[in-house]
Amino acid sequence: MTVLNLLSVCLLVASGGGMGAAPKLPVLLIDGQNNHNWKATTPVIRDILEKSGRFTVEVLTSPPADAPAEAWAAFKPDFARYRVVFSNYNGSEWPADVKSAFEKYMADGGGLVLLHAAENSFPGWTEFQKMCALSWQGPDFGDRITVDDDGKVVRTPKGQGPGAGHGPQHPYEMIVRDRNHPILRGLPAKWTHPADELYHGQRGLALNMHILATAFSAKDQGGTGANEPLLYTVAYGKGRVFVDLLGHDVPQISAPDNAALIVRGTEWAATGRVTVPVPKDFPGATR
Ligand code: ZN
Repeated sequence: MTVLNLLSVCLLVASGGGMGAAPKLPVLLIDGQNNHNWKATTPVIRDILEKSGRFTVEVLTSPPADAPAEAWAAFKPDFARYRVVFSNYNGSEWPADVKSAFEKYMADGGGLVLLHAAENSFPGWTEFQKMCALSWQGPDFGDRITVDDDGKVVRTPKGQGPGAGHGPQHPYEMIVRDRNHPILRGLPAKWTHPADELYHGQRGLALNMHILATAFSAKDQGGTGANEPLLYTVAYGKGRVFVDLLGHDVPQISAPDNAALIVRGTEWAATGRVTVPVPKDFPGATR
């Protein structure tokens, strides 16, 4: 064996046979303000993403809402370095230059994941409202989107019907509305999500929105009596947004169904494809 051949063998061994493996996708996970327990949930989200083997994760923590301008001047995410931005942030508006940089990043083909209350941030930022499609607001803020019993999307104009809310936490059935979407392909048509808030009456522009899954919001659970969209995607320019309204706190984020959705939705937002397999502990999943 020549030295060169030996070197080739060593390189092959060092690569762990992963010569063809896709490079890991860089994720920027943003937190720092939220009416939820972001200090506890961010490490859990990071762990879920990193354990999938598909991502590298960097966390960026914003200053608090009342921080002086100097603190905000140091908040300068370099969005272009990341394939996807994962928001665990529900707080005060970002500086104007950060907002415009993020709009450009998304319009040019960036990825965004909004988890639970992250969808509720920035009611006064029109471009973000196009990205999130729906938000935790009152009935006058925008249209409301539900799905009827035949699977047809129903748009209720602003001012009519309930605004945002949720009843007490309880387990509920998730109903898949697009089994062919990469995020949901291979998942059961229905499964039970463990006790969590069931967001209802979300309001917004609801442009370029595609519903992936709903849950029935029962009136005897403080709900609306309608099928509420809880997983959906939004097209923004060349960018992709995945919205996951599950996940109030650590148990609901780390539940096997939501952990899988977080991984699959983040990969889809980054690339438009999903390569990670459905985990064996997904509720109701068949091998
Ligand atoms: Zn919550």
